[in-house]
Amino acid sequence: MMTDSDYSPVVGLEVHAELLTHSKMFCGCAVVDSVEAEPNTSVCEICTGMPGTLPVINQRAVEYALRVALALGCDIAQTSVFARKNYFYPDLPKGYQISQYELPLAVNGEMPIKTVDGQKIIRIRRVHLEEDTGKLYHREGYSLVDYNRSGVPLLEIVSEPDLSSVEEVKSYATGLRSLLRYLEVNSGDMDKGVIRFEANVSVLKEGQSDLGTRTEIKNLNSFRSMVRAIEYEIDRQVSILSSGGDVQQETLGWDEAAGETLSQRSKEEAHDYRYFPEPDLPPLGVDRTWIESVRSELPELPFEKTARFVNDLGLSFYAADVLAVDKSVAEFFEEALDHSPSLPAEKIANWISTDLFALLNEANIPISQSQVEPETIAELVTLVDEGTINATSAKIVLEHVFRNGGSPKEVVKELDLAIIQDPEILRRSVKEILESSPDQVDTYLSGKEGVSQWFFGQVMSVTGGRADPSVVHQILNDELKELKSRQGEG
Ligand code: ADP
Ligand code: ZN
Ligand code: MG
Repeated sequence: MMTDSDYSPVVGLEVHAELLTHSKMFCGCAVVDSVEAEPNTSVCEICTGMPGTLPVINQRAVEYALRVALALGCDIAQTSVFARKNYFYPDLPKGYQISQYELPLAVNGEMPIKTVDGQKIIRIRRVHLEEDTGKLYHREGYSLVDYNRSGVPLLEIVSEPDLSSVEEVKSYATGLRSLLRYLEVNSGDMDKGVIRFEANVSVLKEGQSDLGTRTEIKNLNSFRSMVRAIEYEIDRQVSILSSGGDVQQETLGWDEAAGETLSQRSKEEAHDYRYFPEPDLPPLGVDRTWIESVRSELPELPFEKTARFVNDLGLSFYAADVLAVDKSVAEFFEEALDHSPSLPAEKIANWISTDLFALLNEANIPISQSQVEPETIAELVTLVDEGTINATSAKIVLEHVFRNGGSPKEVVKELDLAIIQDPEILRRSVKEILESSPDQVDTYLSGKEGVSQWFFGQVMSVTGGRADPSVVHQILNDELKELKSRQGEG
């Protein structure tokens, strides 16, 4: 009997991303927020498919697509071709979607992702341009359609089947979202459906080299449903195969409420989209000069930032990646570094990605809206590093600044959080503890010297954790020695 561990998942992802252009792919209609805008307020004859209208290619959309394709290291086709993908659905007024099929804009790219074993390269099969469909709203007994989204530029990024775990799928999807935001071509706002996934899933039996039969799960609109659907599908296929059955190639839907994939159509019923070149559009020409000018304007990419943080700043790959994934966080981090160049980058990184992130998460705001500025972190870490406050106090200070603003130095004064190093003050505390704990002192004098830890704890506690531990240890040792020698005399 085969077990689950004899099979490993194989996943190829198709990612659809709306492009943040001002106007639609083939007409002048504005691209509007699909959640906020009144339905059917940004539509015209072209994007509603009236006969006799002619589409025109949006150059800006091509430029955005080029940004992504170049960032992924793809080969760009100097000539690519738009095609008609024919099918009938109420959200598709023309009866066909204009897409790229045989000759896509770009092929053969690479996307580095973070895995538990470090970095892995996921091959990109193709990147092409198409147009989005309208949106259906199902009410009880009837449906409504909003064509605002109809004709919005859509980029499709298709990976090779190189993803071998659910974690890798997550990492790839997160990485792509991050890349699209860096390139300023997509808002990354998953709640608004601006990035959608289709997952192709098969499983590979140990020792087998040919890929297994795959199924394709359509319309996954969040990371969460994508992950759940893929996990479900892997389990389903493994249980079919391990009981001697065969996986059928089919298209599946994901039922979020039931938590299962459902067959939509089998291979036999597969759509014949009757692709043919779009007769109303010329081939899309992209010349070298254009390619090079787009390439020269690419920003530093998230995976390049990660590499730089590792190589130049000595961060761990993990720490670097956590900061680099969001451009505004990466910029915040680098600004904090600029304010305190002599501090170890690792410490700054750590305060941002643990304590500050926790506060941001709790308040559910982005780093740009926080009262904590890069210089706040720099100042805070400096205060800890030079020994003015301990880590516990620093957390209190950070939270205080997060809620009320201000500078860490002021807050340390205001809340009286500075470390107590004054030997006189600390000696007084030590003596008080010893005097008020005769039993423990006897225990100590009877040879159980471990109890000195208890005295130490008491001193830390009466000083609210602010006493300098090394000074306390030293004084405590002195005082205990003193008691011992007096015992010897007496
Ligand atoms: P289509 O969806 O039009 O059939 P392709 O055949 O090019 O397109 O494949 C689409 C996706 O399926 C790609 O992301 C590819 O990596 C993935 N894929 C192909 N074969 C497998 C497989 N055996 N297991 C998992 N994914 C696969
Ligand atoms: Zn229009
Ligand atoms: Mg497909």
